[in-house]
Amino acid sequence: MKNILAIHTGGTISMSQDEMGGVVQNDENPIDNNDILGLPDINIINDELLNLPSPQMTPETMLKITNRIKKAVAEENIDGVVVTHGTDTLEETAYFLDLTLPNTVPVVVTGAMRSSNEIGADGVFNFKSAIQVAASDEAKNKGVLVVFNTGIYAARFVTKTHTTSVDTFKDPIYGTLGTVDHDQVIFAQQLIGSEYTDINHVKDHVYLLKAYAGMTDVLFNAIDNDETNGVVIEAMGAGNMPAPTLKAIERLIKRNIPIVLVSRCFSGSAQAIYAYEGGGIELKDMGLIFCTQLNGQKARMKLIVGLSSGKAGKDLEEYMANALS
Ligand code: ASP
Repeated sequence: MKNILAIHTGGTISMSQDEMGGVVQNDENPIDNNDILGLPDINIINDELLNLPSPQMTPETMLKITNRIKKAVAEENIDGVVVTHGTDTLEETAYFLDLTLPNTVPVVVTGAMRSSNEIGADGVFNFKSAIQVAASDEAKNKGVLVVFNTGIYAARFVTKTHTTSVDTFKDPIYGTLGTVDHDQVIFAQQLIGSEYTDINHVKDHVYLLKAYAGMTDVLFNAIDNDETNGVVIEAMGAGNMPAPTLKAIERLIKRNIPIVLVSRCFSGSAQAIYAYEGGGIELKDMGLIFCTQLNGQKARMKLIVGLSSGKAGKDLEEYMANALS
């Protein structure tokens, strides 16, 4: 019999709707009840580690989950781990875990879009599917996985695409790695490359700014200070910025603040393609680090992990530029 540790952290999957229709937190987690899952051959050990709506998650709480999993693998005879989480920041926590955990046992993150007492609640189904994946031998050595609405996704690329649909999690670049079909866990592809970084703290003051038509230097000036440790910019299209932002970006670079460029597009990478003022070629020459394929929130997680492990200069550049590590 496999032992699966279920670490609960809060989110809609553990919430319910009150008489007024508002979705509220519970003292007791409604899915912390193995009888409702119908998986008699799997031993599920529930741990109520946190009870947070996921907008309240921080890199510090993510590190707490990493450390809990490391402890379980080292001391508790665990064959797999499921983390239940609010969907708003699920993709960030899943990727943080992917970046900071060695590939020892399967780690699967899941959540729900409808709370426990709503019609069509998806929490128990997603939780059950995630347990099935965590307990499957095929899930080993595939990095941290996200299981949602029968899909199995790589934490590195999966993103929340709809505010309320139960079919919200998608990988816009590579699609699903596999599926959960009743009793079967089926993998169709595997993401290559995986690098784990051991960290014991997280650097703060790492910011994410999104480019928009008419953007000026105002937001860049607001973070032009000694505290700022790093910046991710979601640039336009293939990796271009409005010209009025350039001088302020240059000032941040002069302070030796690493600036990572991704695209605000749903899919694809920022690249040095355009040669006009503010185009990718100028940004590359200025010293911005182009990060392949990650979205802004994931690039920020990676930058935090890289900086927290002491990476700087060329090392940090290589770490951020390589999408497959
Ligand atoms: N707002 C909720 C949260 O992230 C959404 C969810 O869990 O689905 O905590």
